[in-house]
Amino acid sequence: MSALDDARAAWAAQLRMDPSVVDGPLPAWRAVFTDSESLTGVALVCTAEGIDDEHSVLDLGSGPERDEQGVYGCCPWPQFEAGSEVFAAYLVELLNADQEQSATSSGGQR
Ligand SMILES: [Zn+2]
Repeated sequence: MSALDDARAAWAAQLRMDPSVVDGPLPAWRAVFTDSESLTGVALVCTAEGIDDEHSVLDLGSGPERDEQGVYGCCPWPQFEAGSEVFAAYLVELLNADQEQSATSSGGQR
């Protein structure tokens, strides 16, 4: 195993301690708005539903939409500040690509 394989497996094991992520694919990453009011944060995609879903519903002229780029009490850990919109976008793509590749290479197994 490479250092990347070891780190990825350790992260997956930690993430699987969350009851909402025990089975199935690991959640993807997304860029989020932070205190800087720009998309400089990185967080896991929130899968809260129903009354657990605290995401505001915004209507920006095209009809109501769930605020997918905000972070609320329902959102899973971790969420972190990347300090730059460009860097946050890069980290999201990198993390999602690595997760997709590892899921494909392991046949979706844990
Ligand atoms: Zn949430």
